[in-house]
Amino acid sequence: MMVPAVLVWRGVVALAGLTLAAEGLYYLMRYLERLRERRPRVLFFPAPVTCVRPLLLAAPGRCDCGLSHRESALSSLARLLLSARRSLDVCVFSISSQELSSTVLVVHGRGVRVRVVTDSDFMALACSQVGTFRKAGIEVRHDQDTSYMHHKFALIDGSVLVTGSLNWSAQGIFGNKENVIIIKNTDIVKAFVQEFEQLWNEYDPTKYSFSPQK
Ligand SMILES: [Zn+2]
Repeated sequence: MMVPAVLVWRGVVALAGLTLAAEGLYYLMRYLERLRERRPRVLFFPAPVTCVRPLLLAAPGRCDCGLSHRESALSSLARLLLSARRSLDVCVFSISSQELSSTVLVVHGRGVRVRVVTDSDFMALACSQVGTFRKAGIEVRHDQDTSYMHHKFALIDGSVLVTGSLNWSAQGIFGNKENVIIIKNTDIVKAFVQEFEQLWNEYDPTKYSFSPQK
């Protein structure tokens, strides 16, 4: 029996409509997912004492250190830093945490450009990781005056801002009440990128003056 042409056309139109609706739904879901990804996140410290070593291994493996390896504010922060693909700009007053400095070294080892701005007074302390960074070939610049370079922020690929009260120290991570906000808002990120570039330029070692001006 021949199917009337009008029914065939209706079938074709219905199929096309369904295809378009499915495609529209797909793009709507992706749009909503992107919106969700762009929402700010907040991490609160102190974090429980956990080990983040498995995150830093080149291949997934077991760590038998005896500490817990569960998710925490520290592991979330480490994961975020490890997500850098092109650049990691760190601008933090005190950098002494073994966990976060090891994370930065792993990022650098992957070929990501890492730049660090820190405070000259704090980097002179024995616990500072600045020496380790420099030995690994990471560029570090610091202030040259008596006031503090007191920022605590980092930029991942110039598009994700990590900022808050947290110094990258064991005391800050495991001891203090601290907050870290993760922001992807373009205007805010742009302002911090500009601040980082301005400090990077200001602390260029070729501009150091080692003797007081007369
Ligand atoms: Zn472990």
